Order: sequence, then C-alpha cells, then structure tokens
Amino acid sequence: MAFRFRKQKKRNLFGSRNGLLYIEGVNPTQIKPYVQVALLHSPYCTLTYHVPDTFVENLEPGHRVLVPLGRRVITGVVLDSADETDIETVRDIHDILDLNPLLTPELLRLTQWISEYYLCHQGEVIRTALPPGIHQTTQLNVSLCQIHPQVTLSEKQQTILRMLEKTSPLSVQSLEKKMNAGRLRFELNKLEDMGCLSLEHVLEEAKVKIRSENWVGVTPVVDKVLVEALQHRAPKQGNVLHDLFRMGHDVPRDEVDTDFATLRALETKGLIFIRQEESFRDAYLNAPVEAPKPVTLTDEQRSVVQTVQTHLNHFQVLLLHGVTGSGKTQVYMEAIAQVLEQGKTALVLIPEISLTPQAVQRYRGLFGNQVAVLHSRMSNGERYDSWRKIREGSFRIGLGPRSAVFAPLENLGLIVVDEEHETSYKQTDPSPRYHARDVAIVRAQINNCPVILGSATPNLESYFNAMQGKYLLCELTKRVDAVPMPEVVLVDRKPEDKMAVRHILTPLLVRKMKEQLDAGQQIVLLQNRRGYASFLRCQECGDIAHCPHCDIPLTFHQRGHLLRCHYCGYQRYANEVCSKCEGSTLRYRGVGTQRVEEEVADYFPEAKLFRMDLDTTRRKGAHDQIIHDFEKGKGDILLGTQMVAKGHDFPGVHLVGIISADTELFFPDFRSGERTFQLLSQASGRAGRRNRIGEVVIQTMYPDHEILAFVQRHDYLSFYQWEMKQRHEFHYPPWGRLIQVRFRGPSEQDTERAAQLFQQLAPRSDVVQVLGPVASPLARIKNLYRYQIIFRSSKTRDVSGNYLRRLVQEAWSRFSEAKKYGRVRLSIDVDPVDLM
Ligand code: ADP
Ligand code: ZN
Repeated sequence: MAFRFRKQKKRNLFGSRNGLLYIEGVNPTQIKPYVQVALLHSPYCTLTYHVPDTFVENLEPGHRVLVPLGRRVITGVVLDSADETDIETVRDIHDILDLNPLLTPELLRLTQWISEYYLCHQGEVIRTALPPGIHQTTQLNVSLCQIHPQVTLSEKQQTILRMLEKTSPLSVQSLEKKMNAGRLRFELNKLEDMGCLSLEHVLEEAKVKIRSENWVGVTPVVDKVLVEALQHRAPKQGNVLHDLFRMGHDVPRDEVDTDFATLRALETKGLIFIRQEESFRDAYLNAPVEAPKPVTLTDEQRSVVQTVQTHLNHFQVLLLHGVTGSGKTQVYMEAIAQVLEQGKTALVLIPEISLTPQAVQRYRGLFGNQVAVLHSRMSNGERYDSWRKIREGSFRIGLGPRSAVFAPLENLGLIVVDEEHETSYKQTDPSPRYHARDVAIVRAQINNCPVILGSATPNLESYFNAMQGKYLLCELTKRVDAVPMPEVVLVDRKPEDKMAVRHILTPLLVRKMKEQLDAGQQIVLLQNRRGYASFLRCQECGDIAHCPHCDIPLTFHQRGHLLRCHYCGYQRYANEVCSKCEGSTLRYRGVGTQRVEEEVADYFPEAKLFRMDLDTTRRKGAHDQIIHDFEKGKGDILLGTQMVAKGHDFPGVHLVGIISADTELFFPDFRSGERTFQLLSQASGRAGRRNRIGEVVIQTMYPDHEILAFVQRHDYLSFYQWEMKQRHEFHYPPWGRLIQVRFRGPSEQDTERAAQLFQQLAPRSDVVQVLGPVASPLARIKNLYRYQIIFRSSKTRDVSGNYLRRLVQEAWSRFSEAKKYGRVRLSIDVDPVDLM
C-alpha cells in the first residue's frame, strides 16, 4: 500500500513566493538526527522520528512535518532533537511542510507549559494555537480492480462493487455515506483480499490556502500620445488604457470594467501588465471605526498609565480594578501606544466574540490597520490570513477572544485581558481545557513583559493574588466625568405573595419604567434565563416534563408552543395535558425572557422592545444589529439575558431593572455567589453612565442576602472579604486548588464504576482530598451519564499545585493501564470553572 501524494504542487502553505515568512536574523541551529514530533491529530502523542540527511539543514523546532503513523501519514510539529534514541525502530520523517517554522520558540514553550499544567497533549494545544484548516489529512480511498471474482459475493459486497462501478476511486467515507451504512472496513478488506478492489491512503490537500488576485497596471512605455493613438485605432482597448493611465496606479482586476480578452491584448502589446498579488481576507474590512476623540485622562487614569509605564520592560501582572465606566479601555490604549512606540507588539483579549465589533471600532479607530482580529466565527480563510499576517509581522496588535492568546506576535510588549473575571476565558470542552487569562500571564512571563487584567468585579483568585502582593493592584474608583454610581433599590418579592406569582414586574419597577418612558429615556432589563417558562408543572401529580436525553427539565417556548431542552436541542410540542396523569392544569414555573417580554407589552404596548438572548441572536450579525439599533435610540427597552450586562456603553440608559436576582444564587457550585455578584454589578453598571445618577431596581426573594447588600453599596472589597470567608472552610479556590475528573458514558453503571475505579487507583495522600465520585449535578446530557471526582489541595501545603497534578496524573495512567470501561470517556479539568 503506497502513499500517493495528490496535487502536491504547492505543498508549502507558506509558499516560497516572496520568500514569505523568512525571519531575518534567525540562524538555523543544526537539528540533531532524532526529533520529537507532537502529532496534530489523534492520538496526539509525541513520538520520535529520524531526520533523513536531506532535511537536516532545513529543519528546526516549530516546523510542521509529515510523519508516518501505522498505515497513515499525519502532520506533526517538531519539538526537540537529540543525537541518539533508545527506541529500536525509528521511522523517517516524510516531508517538511513549510518553509519556515510555524511556531516560534516562544509559542513552543507556551504550548509545552499548557500541556504540563493542564494535563493534556502538546499536539492538542498546538492544534488549538494554529488556524484551522491548514493541515493536510489522509483519507482512505477505494478503487475498483475487478468486478466478477471467482467466488460468490454477499449482497453487501455486491452493492459495494456496484457503487464503485459508477464512481471509482471513492473515499471510504463517501462510500459509507452513499450506502447509508456504518463501518464497511471489514467487507472492504475482504474484497481487497479477493483482488476486487484496492485500498489506498491518499494525502488530501489542506482546506485553506493563500488566495491571490490579479492586479493590472500600465507599463512605463505608455504616455498620453500613445493612449490617444490607441483610442483612435482600437477604441475599446484604448479606453481601458486611458482609464488605467489616468488613475496612475495599479488596480485590482475586478475594478477594471472590461473583458479578459481586451486585457490580454493590451498585455501582449506590452502596454499593461497583469500581476498576481496575495489578497488579504479581512473580516472587518468595512467595519465602522470610531474616530479617536481627544481625551484628557482623569487623574486616576493618568496615575495608572504611569504605573504601567514603569513596568513596561519586565514581567509584572497589574490588576486594574476599575468601576464600570471608569475608562479602563482608555488606559489600555494609552499603554499600548507606548508599547508600539518602543517598537514592540501588543495583544488584547476580550471575553466574547460578540464584543469584537465594538472593540474593533475603538482599537482600529486609534491604531488603524495595525490591528488584526482573530476569532472562531471568522471563516477559515479570514483566520488564516490574519494569523499569517501577524506571523509575518504585518500587524502589531492582536485582538480577539480566548484563542487569540496564541496570536503569533513576536516581540510582545504588553498583554491586556479585558473583563478578566469572565468565565468564557476558560475552555471547558474539548481539551485543552486552558484558561486564557492564566495562559496570558505565563506568556507575558516568557516574554518578560507586563500583563494588565482589567475588571470592575475582579475574579476572586486575581484579587487574592493582588492582596498577596503577587499582582500589582491599580484602581479606578470613579467614573469618567465624575458620573456618580447608580442608586440601587432592592424590591422584595415574597414567594407567598400571590401577586408576585401572577405578575413578574413589581409595582415599583412598573412605576419607574413609566417615568422613564414618559421622559423619553431608555431602559435595560435583565432576566438571565431564556425561553418563556423554565418548566411546566402539572398541578395534579406534580410531574415536570423532562428531556428524554438529559436529566433536565424542558423549557417552555411560547413560539410554536414548544418544550425545548437547552442542553441538547431536543424539542417537542407542549401538550395541553400532563403526559403522566393526563391532568389538565399545567402551570408555568420560572420566568424566561419571553414571558417578561409579554408582560412588558401588557403594561407598555407602545414601547419598542428589543429582546436579546440566544434565541434572537443565533443569526450572524443579529447581536450587533440589536446593540447598534438600541444605541441609536431605535428602541425603548432592551431586555435580555447576561448578554445585556456586558461591556456596552448606552448613553441613553438611566434605569436598569433586574427581574430576578436569584436565578443562579443557589446553584450547587461554590462560585454561584461570585457570579451573581458580578452579573448584578455589571448589569447595574449600564445605568446612568452620563449626566446624572442612574437607577437600578433589583427584584429578589432574598432581600436580606449579603451579596445583594454588597451589590447595592457597590462594595467589591466587602464582597471579597465575605466570599473569602465562605470559601476558607472547604479550601475552595483561591485558598485551594481543584482538579475535576469527569466520566461520561452511555451506561450509568459503567460510568459510576469507572469513576470508582479511578478513585481507588489514586495514590493516598494527606495533602490531597478526594471528593466523590458522585453523579454530576447535571447527571445526564445527550444520553450520556455523568460522574465526577474532585481532587483538592490547599495552597498552604501545595504551593505550586504540583502535588495535586502529579497525583491525578498517576491515577490517570494507572486507570489507562487497567484498560477497563472502554466506552466511558474521561476528561480532566485543571482549575475547573464548570462544576455542573
Ligand atoms: P470601562 O471599560 O471602564 O467601563 P470605558 O473605557 O468603556 O469604561 O469608558 C467609558 C466611556 O468613557 C467611553 O465612552 C470612553 O470613550 C469615555 N472615556 C474614557 N476615558 C475618558 C476621559 N479621560 N475623558 C473623557 N471620556 C473618557
Ligand atoms: Zn436534552
């Protein structure tokens, strides 16, 4: 079975044209004959290969290579090299894929750190760090050799041959699809033995490539006289030449209004040239930018900028604790400007893709086309181009959510992590389960540069580090223009209050809304739950409709009268009677955004309301459109889930209403209090950003809850102290460290047993406590049962967390060796954020 390399003309993704990506000043160190290669496809392990003499001179760590693995050929990245190896049979590297290494030594170190810290394969991490679609893959092809063998064939075998008679060769995958059948490998192998067909691994081209476009320009021989003469003789050609000549510069082919034959004719005459140029696919090419307004920094801002300045040339974590509207972004931009002045580059992380347009608007407004954007909702081509241009050094600022932490910027001078408390910085699935904030800190350390973590409600761990003196705390205590903090009112919604059951909006909130609407002001309403009602309950038997695939109540959606699972997407028509007892009184419980929308419309039929939740923002661009329209004053009320609380600056909003403060307060997760505090504080921050005191109305069933009091007083520090006390007893972070091991499988019994086995195999230790195994709070999702074990150590005894990591690693390798419960999938999450 030979490898056939198909369409191999342009195997260098970083084509040799223009000597692209040649990094000057790098003196390739001679690689030693045995290299460690991290595979970029499953099984993601690191293996040793031999470097044939012909490659020795050109290979460096960070290069992508093609290597054999079993009968496949797959892509890997060279990590390291050695003079010898004690492995007996070492196979040769097949090929080098790029002219220059894709990964800088710095990114190699970073990915190595991640793999060690988060207990995952370096290949997985590198794959996350590189733009998707650039890797070649092998595919198994089958081609027909002989239709009628001497032996009788089974029905299935005959069908296979009939299919191949129509088209051959065919990939096994498409054959299986065409036959609507699962694994055909067994039959195919048999048919190959009989000589009916042949199977062959074929290397597929990468999905993304450099795109180029044609440009047209006039040659130096052309002058006015010549143009006029041609216009006379051949008007069509002459007019084209005239236009090009008048413009005086090269233009893209698409902008020349003529057919290709005319251009060719002009080219043949030596009057114009047509050249190819790489085109850059920029997702934000026509995005609006905000012209920078001249700002005078406030005293507080200036003092923070000065502090950053004194740390510009060494590693330092600065925690910027600045209340909402205190002008943190302005501080980041000032610091970035200084870094650029030094000839260095900067990286800005934002918590969510949906916030990219606003960020682009501000950063491109000030720094123009030095800003490159990277995120996963861009097309593969756009991502590839951005990534490649950053790698070449054409951009000096990288901007994007989580995975942009791997932007291949060189000579980094500053990293900014905006809204550092946001949990979206943590990747939960799939592996690598990294936290971009923590990776950013390590990256800054490798680059010996500062990193600014900014938030109005810092993550508890970050603030703890600042209190310990590990991070430097900088504060912005006042809003810009001395706008006062909003006034927060707590409204009691007693559960026994009959009115409260029927009405979602309390009389106070209705009254305040009316005042605002009458005065022509805008309102933001937060209800952190989408759908209409959280569930439907039968009043007669008490049954609650659950998802058949997940252990979760179904959410009622008014539109289409549907019950929907928010975890797997299952939906069915909501019957008028209980499916268990056929009782006919079904009650809505738990309020979703749709139900709030309905009630607001009852009170204020004239008001224009925008609803913003997962259901209304699925379409690309929908989120931006809502924000944009609301900012422009096209709506009176913006109602939504946590999306409305994030980082937007709505100058027309005076009142913020929080429909229910309690949605998350009692989740079985030690961070639920912190999340509630953050969400409510961030949402409150939308009120009254300019001119006068804003108002916030928080409806709650627990008006005496401490957390609400801290929100009301805008008192982060007291919240911090209170919450630290809560966590102390159980060594929850920041007092301790956690690693969560999760088990998922189709059989509940096997999943539980696998978890038990893992726990039994874990070495005993008096530093590490083992909690569980227990069924996860979300005990079944998409037909998979979920169990978990939490390993915990306290920071006083396990300072760097090595103890904890080593113990889990040991348990993991013993568990893998036991080779039991093959259908149970195991995932390891270091510093988990999702405990549900
Ligand atoms: P934060 O991120 O802290 O909530 P922003 O950086 O978004 O605050 O700033 C809020 C608003 O104040 C923005 O519109 C910004 O342009 C403006 N702003 C920031 N600093 C100043 C300043 N020194 N003078 C005037 N306006 C400012
Ligand atoms: Zn479900």
